[in-house]
Amino acid sequence: MRNFIIRDDDLSFWSSVDEIDAIYKELFDKRVKISFATIAFSVKMHNGGDFNNFYQDDINKPISKNRELISYIKEKIDENLVEIMLHGYNHLYAFKTKDSDKIYLATKKNLDPFRKEQKEIIFLGEYNYQNFDTLFKKTKEAKEYLEDIFCIKIKNFVPPSNQINKNGIRAIYKNGLNLSGMIDKRYNREVNFRGLYSYFKRILFKVFYKNITYPYVMDYKTHKELCGYALTPSTDFKKYYNQLNFCKEHNLAFQLATHYWELNGELRDRFYQIVEYALDNKFESKFLKEVLR
Ligand SMILES: [Zn+2]
Repeated sequence: MRNFIIRDDDLSFWSSVDEIDAIYKELFDKRVKISFATIAFSVKMHNGGDFNNFYQDDINKPISKNRELISYIKEKIDENLVEIMLHGYNHLYAFKTKDSDKIYLATKKNLDPFRKEQKEIIFLGEYNYQNFDTLFKKTKEAKEYLEDIFCIKIKNFVPPSNQINKNGIRAIYKNGLNLSGMIDKRYNREVNFRGLYSYFKRILFKVFYKNITYPYVMDYKTHKELCGYALTPSTDFKKYYNQLNFCKEHNLAFQLATHYWELNGELRDRFYQIVEYALDNKFESKFLKEVLR
């Protein structure tokens, strides 16, 4: 089926209804669905997208404290226009430097001394630096909290910063979640026949189609995964349309992944053009939970 999913990352306490509505009203009016990757207790992010100046405050803000946002999103859920997916507990990054394995939280206070010394900083997403027990507990708490607020069931997880390690993957499928995005070229999952078979098909596909990202659903038995195609200021649009056209020709699902806070100016125009192109070419607007079942 030609299905088209729009995934927007980073819905949280910090999102304003005006910002969301300014981008998506036009699409909601056409009954285009949005799957929001939602952070339960998000910390505040400064200079997002700019890793030379990026930092966060280590203070969790529950999304339920933003009452206006909750009632806006609930209304859209009732109209069957919004899916809530889990996008981490608080989306707090950690970091290390190239010459040491010591891990620090990505606050200004921790980052400044290393930046002054011009050390190379490696950022680690929330599901890429914690142990399984911690991640399992956090996933469970965040999932149940969002399910309670929005009166829904959450089926999908979107890794904060598009990074997730084996502990993180186990933590999400033990909570009954599928994964948006295909992280890691290595197998790096629980070993079972179905998973290995899926992985083998992916490798074989790469032999025939070097320039196409694997577009089929990966079935690891424990959970499913589907690639998301990032639409950001650094996106190569020729490649992007190639991928979209491949999905069109083979009647496959296409998952566009973006951030409402990055959709300004030219990128915003490109975004609407891609959505229009997909709809004109008989892609059907779907939630990720309708595609990964
Ligand atoms: Zn994010």
